[in-house]
Amino acid sequence: MLDLSNFDLSTIPVTENMIDAEKVAHVQLQNPLEHALLVLTKTGYNAVPVLDLDGKFCGTISKSVIVEAMFGLEQIEVDQLYDKKVEDVMEEDIPTVRIDDSLEKALHVLIDHSFACVLDHQDKMVGIYTRREMLKQLRNEYYQQRS
Ligand code: AMP
Repeated sequence: MLDLSNFDLSTIPVTENMIDAEKVAHVQLQNPLEHALLVLTKTGYNAVPVLDLDGKFCGTISKSVIVEAMFGLEQIEVDQLYDKKVEDVMEEDIPTVRIDDSLEKALHVLIDHSFACVLDHQDKMVGIYTRREMLKQLRNEYYQQRS
């Protein structure tokens, strides 16, 4: 059985295995929904961070909120993709972690979100920490204990 008593997430910096910002697909506040849908479709991600022009984190946007925004009263309105901007529909109430936080903080965020944005003290996004990375960390610990 996996014994986590010596596996202290509070001692591992969240920055250790995060995906650096330059490798993170993102969109900007003023982008039309059409651009966001293109980014999400081409990357295959369900959601990506939304940044302002200074690289500050503003929220996330997902395929599901874009599809919801396209629903009119009777039918899907494709025009909405061009008329609405990312800032009109993005989710803003998203928990984040700070650059000097540990994986313990990220663990709590990853229960309800598939990734946690890592911010510096000016709120600029420096990277993301994903559920995949957290699971890799647990897998490594598991096999270390068995060997
Ligand atoms: P994963 O745990 O690798 O499945 O990633 C979880 C989620 O994090 C994905 O569904 C995306 O929403 C986001 N994500 C992962 N990698 C990237 C990336 N390079 N750029 C933008 N978003 C990402």
